[in-house]
Amino acid sequence: MAFEGLAERLQGTLDRIKGRGKVSEADVKEMMREVRLALLEADVNFKVVKQFINRVKERAVGQEVMKSLTPGQQVIKVVNEELQELMGGEQSKIAHAQKPPTVVMMVGLQGAGKTTSTAKLANHLRKKHNRQPLMAAADIYRPAAIKQLETLGEQLNMPVFSLGDQVSPVDIASQAVDKAKEEHNDYVLIDTAGRLHVDEDLMDELLQIKEKVNPDEILLVVDAMTGQDAVNVAESFNEQLGLTGVILTKLDGDTRGGAALSVKAVTDTPIKFAGMGEKIDQLEPFHPERMASRILG
Ligand code: GDP
Repeated sequence: MAFEGLAERLQGTLDRIKGRGKVSEADVKEMMREVRLALLEADVNFKVVKQFINRVKERAVGQEVMKSLTPGQQVIKVVNEELQELMGGEQSKIAHAQKPPTVVMMVGLQGAGKTTSTAKLANHLRKKHNRQPLMAAADIYRPAAIKQLETLGEQLNMPVFSLGDQVSPVDIASQAVDKAKEEHNDYVLIDTAGRLHVDEDLMDELLQIKEKVNPDEILLVVDAMTGQDAVNVAESFNEQLGLTGVILTKLDGDTRGGAALSVKAVTDTPIKFAGMGEKIDQLEPFHPERMASRILG
């Protein structure tokens, strides 16, 4: 499970001061050294770690004493709050356009889980928000991507718009939006093409789709298992395309958690959903608060 190592180390460090009636500045410093190491070991971006430690130190040393908590507990509370803040603070929800359909572009590199996440998101929107999404198969390059989305649509009994692999993705996307209007689908989820690396052709095509359909959301799907690479991918997609959110997949694997803890801080783009397994219902809204509590036990 994600964060196991980090959770263990942080809890170990914090447990030592939990019951203390007095925590000196030197104690806080010493503890922060260990928290810093734990975060770096969990593959958190080093700049993010630095900022995080500074903020906790500032708050933990300067804060007023609360009667209900021991000083040790208070430091832990600060660490918890700052971890939550790091991951985005409040939960960030998916857009809902005033005038339907809400257009969502799903982008990302090949293998990140984009097609799977498109179907998971469609399922989530229907189940939890009572929406009627239309999925659009605009990944015409990866062999079998269209078929994969169609199969997922059949499993879910939800519509998939496709025009095969001989029509341009820009046309597929724009016709899908027209179709959604005709059929009164309130969301259109466009599964776009990925590549093995971020490249110009990929970005050009995505930019063209963006200009054509004017999406309410551009969600980047990234694989949490790739750690700092996921953060770098998020940075470059965000610079070139302007993201509105991130779906972090494979958080069920034994990722060290660095991506989850760095993406928001580095790109200022909220993580909106987490993929927690291969099954269609294993997509969860990302809750920074719950994630922080999970790490701190
Ligand atoms: P795409 O190339 O980005 O469209 O990737 P796919 O949607 O085909 O997914 C690639 C692989 O990752 C598939 O085997 C998926 O089942 C798997 N996958 C996607 N999301 C998750 C997740 O949250 N957890 C796990 N364990 N596997 C996932």
